[in-house]
Amino acid sequence: MIGLSLNVNQHQDRRQQVIVVGAGPAGSATAYHLARAGVSTLLIDKSAFPRDKVCGDGLSPRAQHYLARLGLLEAVATEAHQATRIRFLAPGGAEAETAITGDGAMPNRTLILPRRRFDHLLQQRALAAGARFRVGHVRALCPDGGVELGGERLSARLVVIATGAALSLIKRTPLAPRGPVHSIAARGYLPAMPPPGPDLRFFFDHLPLPGYAWLFPTGPRSANLGYWYNGKEQVSAATWLPRLLAEHPTLAMLTNQGAGIGPIAGYPIRSDFLSAPTRADGLLAVGEAAGLVNPFTGEGIDYALESAELAAETIINALRCAPTTGPLPSAALADYSRDLRRRFRALFLLMRFAQRYAFNPWVFDRLFGRGADGQHLVDRLIQVCFGAAPPQRVLAPVELIRLLSARPR
Ligand SMILES: Cc1cc2nc3c(=O)[nH]c(=O)nc-3n(C[C@H](O)[C@H](O)[C@H](O)COP(=O)(O)OP(=O)(O)OC[C@H]3O[C@@H](n4cnc5c(N)ncnc54)[C@H](O)[C@@H]3O)c2cc1C
Repeated sequence: MIGLSLNVNQHQDRRQQVIVVGAGPAGSATAYHLARAGVSTLLIDKSAFPRDKVCGDGLSPRAQHYLARLGLLEAVATEAHQATRIRFLAPGGAEAETAITGDGAMPNRTLILPRRRFDHLLQQRALAAGARFRVGHVRALCPDGGVELGGERLSARLVVIATGAALSLIKRTPLAPRGPVHSIAARGYLPAMPPPGPDLRFFFDHLPLPGYAWLFPTGPRSANLGYWYNGKEQVSAATWLPRLLAEHPTLAMLTNQGAGIGPIAGYPIRSDFLSAPTRADGLLAVGEAAGLVNPFTGEGIDYALESAELAAETIINALRCAPTTGPLPSAALADYSRDLRRRFRALFLLMRFAQRYAFNPWVFDRLFGRGADGQHLVDRLIQVCFGAAPPQRVLAPVELIRLLSARPR
Protein backbone atom coordinates (compact mmCIF):
# COMPACT_ATOMS: atom_id res chain seq x y z
CA MET A 1 0.00 0.00 0.00
CA ILE A 2 1.26 3.45 -0.72
CA GLY A 3 2.14 5.10 2.58
CA LEU A 4 2.96 8.60 1.33
CA SER A 5 0.25 11.19 1.38
CA LEU A 6 -0.02 14.68 0.07
CA ASN A 7 -2.59 17.15 1.31
CA VAL A 8 -2.90 19.28 -1.74
CA ASN A 9 -6.60 18.99 -2.60
CA GLN A 10 -7.44 22.14 -0.68
CA HIS A 11 -5.09 24.18 -2.92
CA GLN A 12 -6.74 22.99 -6.10
CA ASP A 13 -9.78 24.56 -7.73
CA ARG A 14 -10.76 23.07 -11.11
CA ARG A 15 -7.13 22.46 -12.03
CA GLN A 16 -6.29 18.86 -11.28
CA GLN A 17 -2.69 17.96 -10.58
CA VAL A 18 -2.80 14.70 -12.50
CA ILE A 19 -4.92 13.58 -15.46
CA VAL A 20 -5.09 9.84 -16.08
CA VAL A 21 -6.23 8.96 -19.62
CA GLY A 22 -7.78 5.48 -19.75
CA ALA A 23 -9.80 3.80 -16.99
CA GLY A 24 -8.72 0.19 -17.52
CA PRO A 25 -6.92 -1.59 -14.67
CA ALA A 26 -3.75 0.53 -15.04
CA GLY A 27 -5.54 3.89 -15.14
CA SER A 28 -8.12 3.21 -12.44
CA ALA A 29 -5.50 1.74 -10.09
CA THR A 30 -3.20 4.75 -10.65
CA ALA A 31 -6.10 7.13 -10.00
CA TYR A 32 -7.03 5.20 -6.87
CA HIS A 33 -3.52 5.38 -5.36
CA LEU A 34 -3.11 9.06 -6.23
CA ALA A 35 -6.55 10.13 -4.98
CA ARG A 36 -6.09 8.14 -1.80
CA ALA A 37 -2.85 10.03 -1.13
CA GLY A 38 -4.66 13.36 -1.56
CA VAL A 39 -3.56 14.14 -5.12
CA SER A 40 -6.28 15.86 -7.11
CA THR A 41 -6.85 13.41 -9.98
CA LEU A 42 -9.06 13.41 -13.05
CA LEU A 43 -9.66 10.05 -14.73
CA ILE A 44 -10.86 10.18 -18.35
CA ASP A 45 -12.08 7.34 -20.57
CA LYS A 46 -13.59 7.39 -24.02
CA SER A 47 -16.29 4.98 -22.82
CA ALA A 48 -18.93 5.35 -20.13
CA PHE A 49 -18.78 2.52 -17.59
CA PRO A 50 -19.57 -0.30 -17.41
CA ARG A 51 -17.95 -1.12 -20.75
CA ASP A 52 -16.55 -4.30 -22.29
CA LYS A 53 -12.85 -5.00 -22.97
CA VAL A 54 -11.80 -7.93 -25.14
CA CYS A 55 -9.86 -10.20 -22.76
CA GLY A 56 -9.51 -13.74 -21.39
CA ASP A 57 -10.71 -12.31 -18.05
CA GLY A 58 -8.07 -14.28 -16.06
CA LEU A 59 -6.69 -12.70 -12.89
CA SER A 60 -3.40 -14.35 -11.94
CA PRO A 61 -2.20 -14.79 -8.33
CA ARG A 62 0.01 -11.74 -8.95
CA ALA A 63 -3.00 -9.68 -10.07
CA GLN A 64 -4.90 -10.75 -6.95
CA HIS A 65 -1.99 -9.69 -4.75
CA TYR A 66 -2.27 -6.16 -6.17
CA LEU A 67 -6.06 -6.22 -5.98
CA ALA A 68 -5.75 -6.93 -2.26
CA ARG A 69 -3.61 -3.78 -1.96
CA LEU A 70 -6.45 -1.86 -3.58
CA GLY A 71 -8.85 -3.34 -1.02
CA LEU A 72 -10.76 -5.02 -3.85
CA LEU A 73 -9.80 -8.70 -3.74
CA GLU A 74 -12.73 -9.89 -1.67
CA ALA A 75 -15.32 -8.09 -3.81
CA VAL A 76 -13.79 -9.52 -6.99
CA ALA A 77 -13.40 -13.05 -5.58
CA THR A 78 -17.04 -13.10 -4.46
CA GLU A 79 -18.24 -12.62 -8.03
CA ALA A 80 -15.51 -14.48 -9.93
CA HIS A 81 -15.10 -18.11 -10.95
CA GLN A 82 -12.03 -19.74 -9.35
CA ALA A 83 -9.61 -22.21 -10.97
CA THR A 84 -6.79 -23.93 -9.10
CA ARG A 85 -5.30 -26.03 -11.93
CA ILE A 86 -4.22 -25.58 -15.54
CA ARG A 87 -4.33 -28.27 -18.24
CA PHE A 88 -2.28 -28.12 -21.44
CA LEU A 89 -2.51 -29.98 -24.73
CA ALA A 90 0.69 -30.09 -26.81
CA PRO A 91 0.85 -30.06 -30.64
CA GLY A 92 1.73 -33.75 -30.67
CA GLY A 93 -1.18 -34.68 -28.36
CA ALA A 94 0.74 -35.02 -25.06
CA GLU A 95 -1.07 -33.58 -22.05
CA ALA A 96 0.23 -31.90 -18.91
CA GLU A 97 -1.27 -30.17 -15.95
CA THR A 98 -0.03 -28.04 -13.11
CA ALA A 99 -1.33 -26.47 -9.95
CA ILE A 100 -1.64 -22.70 -9.84
CA THR A 101 0.67 -21.58 -7.07
CA GLY A 102 1.33 -18.16 -5.60
CA ASP A 103 4.46 -17.37 -3.59
CA GLY A 104 2.86 -17.61 -0.17
CA ALA A 105 1.69 -13.98 -0.25
CA MET A 106 -0.35 -14.67 -3.39
CA PRO A 107 -3.44 -16.94 -3.56
CA ASN A 108 -3.09 -20.39 -5.18
CA ARG A 109 -5.76 -19.80 -7.79
CA THR A 110 -6.73 -17.80 -10.84
CA LEU A 111 -9.97 -15.82 -10.77
CA ILE A 112 -12.04 -15.29 -13.90
CA LEU A 113 -14.37 -12.31 -13.98
CA PRO A 114 -15.57 -10.66 -17.22
CA ARG A 115 -13.88 -7.31 -17.76
CA ARG A 116 -17.19 -5.49 -18.10
CA ARG A 117 -17.71 -6.13 -14.39
CA PHE A 118 -14.06 -6.18 -13.21
CA ASP A 119 -13.10 -2.84 -14.76
CA HIS A 120 -16.26 -1.24 -13.41
CA LEU A 121 -15.43 -2.38 -9.86
CA LEU A 122 -11.94 -0.87 -10.26
CA GLN A 123 -13.18 2.41 -11.72
CA GLN A 124 -15.72 2.75 -8.90
CA ARG A 125 -12.93 2.10 -6.40
CA ALA A 126 -10.92 5.00 -7.85
CA LEU A 127 -13.95 7.30 -7.66
CA ALA A 128 -14.69 6.24 -4.08
CA ALA A 129 -11.09 7.20 -3.21
CA GLY A 130 -11.75 10.73 -4.50
CA ALA A 131 -10.76 10.69 -8.19
CA ARG A 132 -13.12 12.53 -10.57
CA PHE A 133 -14.24 10.88 -13.84
CA ARG A 134 -15.13 12.24 -17.26
CA VAL A 135 -16.15 10.45 -20.44
CA GLY A 136 -14.24 11.74 -23.44
CA HIS A 137 -11.88 10.66 -26.22
CA VAL A 138 -8.54 12.41 -25.66
CA ARG A 139 -6.93 13.08 -29.03
CA ALA A 140 -4.18 15.54 -28.13
CA LEU A 141 -2.05 16.84 -25.29
CA CYS A 142 -1.67 20.55 -24.42
CA PRO A 143 1.87 21.80 -25.07
CA ASP A 144 2.07 23.37 -21.59
CA GLY A 145 0.74 20.31 -19.70
CA GLY A 146 -2.62 18.57 -19.66
CA VAL A 147 -4.97 17.40 -22.41
CA GLU A 148 -7.44 18.78 -24.93
CA LEU A 149 -10.90 17.32 -24.61
CA GLY A 150 -13.61 18.32 -27.05
CA GLY A 151 -12.12 21.79 -27.57
CA GLU A 152 -11.55 22.33 -23.84
CA ARG A 153 -8.03 22.60 -22.40
CA LEU A 154 -7.65 20.67 -19.17
CA SER A 155 -4.35 21.51 -17.56
CA ALA A 156 -2.39 19.32 -15.18
CA ARG A 157 1.17 18.87 -14.00
CA LEU A 158 1.24 15.31 -15.26
CA VAL A 159 -0.69 13.22 -17.77
CA VAL A 160 -0.63 9.48 -17.15
CA ILE A 161 -1.19 7.58 -20.39
CA ALA A 162 -3.12 4.41 -19.52
CA THR A 163 -4.69 3.81 -22.92
CA GLY A 164 -3.71 0.13 -23.23
CA ALA A 165 -2.94 -1.09 -26.76
CA ALA A 166 -4.82 1.84 -28.37
CA LEU A 167 -2.27 3.95 -30.24
CA SER A 168 -4.24 6.96 -31.46
CA LEU A 169 -3.13 9.23 -28.60
CA ILE A 170 0.22 7.78 -27.53
CA LYS A 171 1.66 7.75 -31.04
CA ARG A 172 1.36 11.57 -31.04
CA THR A 173 3.43 11.89 -27.85
CA PRO A 174 7.10 11.31 -26.94
CA LEU A 175 5.97 7.95 -25.51
CA ALA A 176 5.10 6.54 -28.95
CA PRO A 177 6.19 2.89 -29.21
CA ARG A 178 9.31 2.25 -31.26
CA GLY A 179 8.55 -0.05 -34.16
CA PRO A 180 5.59 -2.37 -34.73
CA VAL A 181 4.23 -3.70 -31.47
CA HIS A 182 0.99 -5.53 -32.02
CA SER A 183 -0.19 -9.08 -32.08
CA ILE A 184 -3.90 -9.83 -32.12
CA ALA A 185 -6.01 -12.03 -29.88
CA ALA A 186 -9.72 -12.81 -30.17
CA ARG A 187 -12.33 -14.15 -27.82
CA GLY A 188 -15.99 -15.05 -27.50
CA TYR A 189 -18.24 -16.08 -24.60
CA LEU A 190 -20.04 -19.39 -24.42
CA PRO A 191 -22.93 -18.54 -22.07
CA ALA A 192 -24.54 -22.02 -22.01
CA MET A 193 -22.36 -25.00 -22.82
CA PRO A 194 -21.60 -28.52 -21.57
CA PRO A 195 -19.82 -28.12 -18.19
CA PRO A 196 -16.29 -26.92 -19.11
CA GLY A 197 -14.77 -28.42 -15.92
CA PRO A 198 -13.06 -26.46 -13.19
CA ASP A 199 -9.60 -25.95 -14.76
CA LEU A 200 -8.07 -23.41 -17.11
CA ARG A 201 -7.35 -25.14 -20.43
CA PHE A 202 -4.62 -24.19 -22.95
CA PHE A 203 -4.37 -25.78 -26.40
CA PHE A 204 -1.26 -25.67 -28.58
CA ASP A 205 -2.43 -28.24 -31.13
CA HIS A 206 -4.22 -27.89 -34.50
CA LEU A 207 -3.47 -24.15 -34.68
CA PRO A 208 -0.74 -21.82 -35.95
CA LEU A 209 2.16 -21.36 -33.51
CA PRO A 210 3.43 -19.30 -31.76
CA GLY A 211 0.18 -18.87 -29.92
CA TYR A 212 -2.48 -20.83 -28.12
CA ALA A 213 -6.21 -21.24 -27.66
CA TRP A 214 -7.72 -21.00 -24.19
CA LEU A 215 -10.91 -22.12 -22.53
CA PHE A 216 -11.44 -20.39 -19.19
CA PRO A 217 -14.58 -21.37 -17.23
CA THR A 218 -16.59 -18.33 -16.12
CA GLY A 219 -19.13 -20.51 -14.29
CA PRO A 220 -20.34 -24.16 -14.11
CA ARG A 221 -21.74 -24.04 -17.68
CA SER A 222 -20.08 -21.02 -19.28
CA ALA A 223 -16.65 -20.07 -20.53
CA ASN A 224 -14.45 -17.50 -22.18
CA LEU A 225 -12.86 -19.01 -25.27
CA GLY A 226 -10.06 -17.34 -27.22
CA TYR A 227 -7.03 -17.62 -29.46
CA TRP A 228 -3.85 -15.53 -29.48
CA TYR A 229 -1.48 -15.66 -32.42
CA ASN A 230 1.84 -14.05 -31.55
CA GLY A 231 3.99 -14.74 -34.60
CA LYS A 232 5.08 -12.91 -37.71
CA GLU A 233 2.72 -14.45 -40.30
CA GLN A 234 -0.55 -12.84 -41.39
CA VAL A 235 -2.83 -14.91 -39.15
CA SER A 236 -6.22 -13.57 -38.10
CA ALA A 237 -7.13 -14.78 -34.61
CA ALA A 238 -10.77 -13.76 -35.16
CA THR A 239 -10.94 -15.95 -38.29
CA TRP A 240 -9.22 -18.88 -36.62
CA LEU A 241 -11.47 -19.00 -33.56
CA PRO A 242 -14.68 -20.17 -35.35
CA ARG A 243 -12.53 -22.65 -37.27
CA LEU A 244 -11.16 -24.09 -34.01
CA LEU A 245 -14.70 -24.41 -32.67
CA ALA A 246 -15.76 -26.35 -35.74
CA GLU A 247 -12.65 -28.48 -36.33
CA HIS A 248 -10.40 -28.69 -33.28
CA PRO A 249 -10.89 -32.26 -31.97
CA THR A 250 -11.03 -31.36 -28.26
CA LEU A 251 -12.45 -27.83 -28.40
CA ALA A 252 -15.25 -28.79 -30.77
CA MET A 253 -16.24 -31.65 -28.45
CA LEU A 254 -15.93 -29.62 -25.22
CA THR A 255 -17.99 -26.74 -26.57
CA ASN A 256 -20.54 -28.65 -28.66
CA GLN A 257 -18.92 -27.03 -31.70
CA GLY A 258 -19.33 -23.60 -30.18
CA ALA A 259 -23.15 -23.72 -30.27
CA GLY A 260 -24.53 -20.44 -28.94
CA ILE A 261 -21.21 -18.59 -28.83
CA GLY A 262 -21.62 -14.81 -28.56
CA PRO A 263 -19.92 -12.29 -30.85
CA ILE A 264 -16.24 -12.99 -31.50
CA ALA A 265 -14.09 -9.88 -31.06
CA GLY A 266 -10.39 -9.32 -31.67
CA TYR A 267 -8.12 -6.77 -30.02
CA PRO A 268 -4.39 -5.97 -30.23
CA ILE A 269 -1.86 -6.82 -27.54
CA ARG A 270 1.27 -4.72 -26.82
CA SER A 271 4.13 -6.54 -25.13
CA ASP A 272 7.06 -4.32 -26.14
CA PHE A 273 8.06 -3.24 -22.64
CA LEU A 274 11.77 -3.86 -23.33
CA SER A 275 11.83 -1.00 -25.86
CA ALA A 276 8.82 1.11 -24.78
CA PRO A 277 9.41 4.68 -23.53
CA THR A 278 7.84 5.10 -20.09
CA ARG A 279 8.27 8.80 -19.22
CA ALA A 280 8.83 12.27 -20.67
CA ASP A 281 8.31 15.83 -19.40
CA GLY A 282 4.79 15.94 -17.94
CA LEU A 283 4.04 12.39 -19.15
CA LEU A 284 4.19 8.85 -17.89
CA ALA A 285 2.90 5.53 -19.32
CA VAL A 286 1.41 2.72 -17.22
CA GLY A 287 0.16 -0.81 -17.93
CA GLU A 288 -0.13 -1.91 -21.54
CA ALA A 289 0.65 1.65 -22.74
CA ALA A 290 4.14 0.86 -21.40
CA GLY A 291 4.17 -2.46 -23.30
CA LEU A 292 3.55 -4.40 -20.09
CA VAL A 293 1.87 -7.57 -21.32
CA ASN A 294 3.73 -10.85 -20.89
CA PRO A 295 5.06 -11.76 -24.38
CA PHE A 296 4.70 -15.49 -23.61
CA THR A 297 1.35 -15.71 -21.80
CA GLY A 298 -0.46 -12.58 -23.02
CA GLU A 299 -1.36 -11.59 -19.46
CA GLY A 300 -1.13 -7.97 -18.43
CA ILE A 301 -3.72 -7.11 -15.80
CA ASP A 302 -1.25 -7.97 -13.05
CA TYR A 303 1.48 -5.75 -14.50
CA ALA A 304 -1.07 -2.99 -15.10
CA LEU A 305 -1.95 -2.95 -11.38
CA GLU A 306 1.70 -3.27 -10.35
CA SER A 307 2.96 -0.47 -12.61
CA ALA A 308 0.10 1.73 -11.38
CA GLU A 309 1.36 1.41 -7.83
CA LEU A 310 4.95 2.19 -8.85
CA ALA A 311 3.80 5.16 -10.92
CA ALA A 312 1.74 6.62 -8.09
CA GLU A 313 4.66 6.36 -5.66
CA THR A 314 6.92 8.26 -8.04
CA ILE A 315 4.28 10.88 -8.86
CA ILE A 316 3.55 11.59 -5.20
CA ASN A 317 7.26 12.04 -4.47
CA ALA A 318 7.77 14.20 -7.55
CA LEU A 319 4.84 16.47 -6.66
CA ARG A 320 6.39 16.92 -3.27
CA CYS A 321 9.94 17.64 -4.40
CA ALA A 322 9.77 19.24 -7.85
CA PRO A 323 9.11 22.99 -8.42
CA THR A 324 5.50 23.88 -7.71
CA THR A 325 4.32 24.89 -11.18
CA GLY A 326 4.53 23.55 -14.73
CA PRO A 327 4.71 20.01 -16.03
CA LEU A 328 6.71 17.60 -13.87
CA PRO A 329 10.10 17.20 -15.53
CA SER A 330 11.07 13.79 -16.86
CA ALA A 331 14.05 13.69 -14.45
CA ALA A 332 11.67 13.89 -11.47
CA LEU A 333 9.95 10.72 -12.78
CA ALA A 334 13.13 8.70 -13.28
CA ASP A 335 12.48 6.43 -10.28
CA TYR A 336 9.45 5.01 -12.07
CA SER A 337 11.40 3.87 -15.13
CA ARG A 338 14.13 2.46 -12.89
CA ASP A 339 11.62 0.56 -10.73
CA LEU A 340 9.91 -0.88 -13.81
CA ARG A 341 13.24 -2.10 -15.16
CA ARG A 342 14.16 -3.72 -11.84
CA ARG A 343 10.79 -5.41 -11.57
CA PHE A 344 10.21 -6.54 -15.17
CA ARG A 345 13.35 -6.54 -17.32
CA ALA A 346 14.63 -10.04 -16.48
CA LEU A 347 11.11 -11.46 -16.67
CA PHE A 348 10.43 -9.92 -20.08
CA LEU A 349 13.80 -11.07 -21.45
CA LEU A 350 13.00 -14.64 -20.40
CA MET A 351 9.41 -14.47 -21.64
CA ARG A 352 10.48 -13.05 -24.99
CA PHE A 353 12.98 -15.89 -25.29
CA ALA A 354 10.23 -18.39 -24.42
CA GLN A 355 7.90 -16.76 -26.95
CA ARG A 356 10.52 -17.14 -29.69
CA TYR A 357 11.73 -20.66 -28.96
CA ALA A 358 9.25 -22.55 -26.77
CA PHE A 359 6.19 -22.52 -29.08
CA ASN A 360 7.69 -25.43 -30.93
CA PRO A 361 6.44 -29.03 -31.14
CA TRP A 362 9.92 -30.34 -30.25
CA VAL A 363 9.99 -28.31 -27.03
CA PHE A 364 6.41 -29.21 -26.12
CA ASP A 365 7.16 -32.91 -26.56
CA ARG A 366 10.08 -32.64 -24.18
CA LEU A 367 8.12 -30.65 -21.60
CA PHE A 368 4.87 -32.59 -21.68
CA GLY A 369 5.92 -36.11 -22.43
CA ARG A 370 8.82 -36.66 -20.00
CA GLY A 371 7.14 -37.34 -16.68
CA ALA A 372 8.63 -35.73 -13.59
CA ASP A 373 11.54 -34.12 -15.45
CA GLY A 374 9.20 -32.10 -17.66
CA GLN A 375 6.70 -31.52 -14.86
CA HIS A 376 9.29 -29.61 -12.78
CA LEU A 377 9.89 -27.19 -15.60
CA VAL A 378 6.20 -26.75 -16.42
CA ASP A 379 5.52 -26.02 -12.74
CA ARG A 380 8.41 -23.55 -12.58
CA LEU A 381 7.47 -21.80 -15.79
CA ILE A 382 3.93 -21.25 -14.55
CA GLN A 383 5.23 -20.01 -11.19
CA VAL A 384 7.48 -17.52 -12.97
CA CYS A 385 4.66 -16.40 -15.26
CA PHE A 386 2.42 -15.82 -12.24
CA GLY A 387 5.15 -14.01 -10.31
CA ALA A 388 5.52 -16.76 -7.70
CA ALA A 389 9.18 -17.47 -8.55
CA PRO A 390 12.03 -15.35 -9.97
CA PRO A 391 12.79 -15.80 -13.70
CA GLN A 392 16.24 -17.27 -13.01
CA ARG A 393 14.64 -20.36 -11.45
CA VAL A 394 13.47 -21.61 -14.84
CA LEU A 395 16.99 -21.66 -16.18
CA ALA A 396 18.61 -24.05 -13.65
CA PRO A 397 21.16 -25.79 -15.97
CA VAL A 398 21.12 -29.20 -14.21
CA GLU A 399 17.38 -29.52 -14.57
CA LEU A 400 17.42 -28.39 -18.19
CA ILE A 401 20.06 -31.00 -19.06
CA ARG A 402 18.14 -33.72 -17.21
CA LEU A 403 15.01 -32.77 -19.12
CA LEU A 404 16.71 -32.75 -22.52
CA SER A 405 18.19 -36.20 -21.92
CA ALA A 406 14.97 -37.69 -20.49
CA ARG A 407 13.15 -40.30 -22.57
CA PRO A 408 9.53 -39.84 -23.64
CA ARG A 409 7.01 -41.77 -21.54
C1 LIG B 1 -8.06 -11.28 -26.30
C2 LIG B 1 -7.23 -10.84 -25.12
C3 LIG B 1 -7.17 -11.68 -24.01
C4 LIG B 1 -6.44 -11.28 -22.87
N1 LIG B 1 -6.49 -12.09 -21.76
C5 LIG B 1 -5.90 -11.68 -20.61
C6 LIG B 1 -6.08 -12.43 -19.41
O1 LIG B 1 -6.79 -13.43 -19.35
N2 LIG B 1 -5.45 -11.99 -18.29
C7 LIG B 1 -4.66 -10.86 -18.29
O2 LIG B 1 -4.08 -10.52 -17.25
N3 LIG B 1 -4.52 -10.11 -19.42
C8 LIG B 1 -5.13 -10.48 -20.57
N4 LIG B 1 -5.02 -9.71 -21.71
C9 LIG B 1 -4.26 -8.45 -21.63
C10 LIG B 1 -5.10 -7.40 -20.88
O3 LIG B 1 -6.32 -7.21 -21.54
C11 LIG B 1 -4.32 -6.08 -20.82
O4 LIG B 1 -3.04 -6.34 -20.32
C12 LIG B 1 -4.99 -5.08 -19.88
O5 LIG B 1 -6.30 -4.77 -20.31
C13 LIG B 1 -4.15 -3.81 -19.82
O6 LIG B 1 -4.77 -2.89 -18.97
P1 LIG B 1 -4.61 -1.33 -19.25
O7 LIG B 1 -5.37 -0.64 -18.15
O8 LIG B 1 -3.19 -1.00 -19.44
O9 LIG B 1 -5.35 -1.06 -20.66
P2 LIG B 1 -6.85 -1.33 -21.09
O10 LIG B 1 -7.48 -2.34 -20.24
O11 LIG B 1 -6.83 -1.58 -22.55
O12 LIG B 1 -7.59 0.05 -20.80
C14 LIG B 1 -7.35 1.18 -21.60
C15 LIG B 1 -8.50 2.15 -21.45
O13 LIG B 1 -8.15 3.36 -22.12
C16 LIG B 1 -9.27 3.87 -22.82
N5 LIG B 1 -8.74 4.69 -23.90
C17 LIG B 1 -7.93 4.30 -24.91
N6 LIG B 1 -7.58 5.37 -25.67
C18 LIG B 1 -8.21 6.45 -25.11
C19 LIG B 1 -8.23 7.84 -25.45
N7 LIG B 1 -7.52 8.33 -26.47
N8 LIG B 1 -8.99 8.67 -24.68
C20 LIG B 1 -9.69 8.19 -23.63
N9 LIG B 1 -9.68 6.88 -23.27
C21 LIG B 1 -8.96 6.02 -24.00
C22 LIG B 1 -10.02 2.62 -23.27
O14 LIG B 1 -11.38 2.90 -23.50
C23 LIG B 1 -9.79 1.66 -22.09
O15 LIG B 1 -10.83 1.76 -21.14
C24 LIG B 1 -5.72 -10.06 -22.86
C25 LIG B 1 -5.76 -9.23 -24.00
C26 LIG B 1 -6.51 -9.61 -25.11
C27 LIG B 1 -6.57 -8.69 -26.30
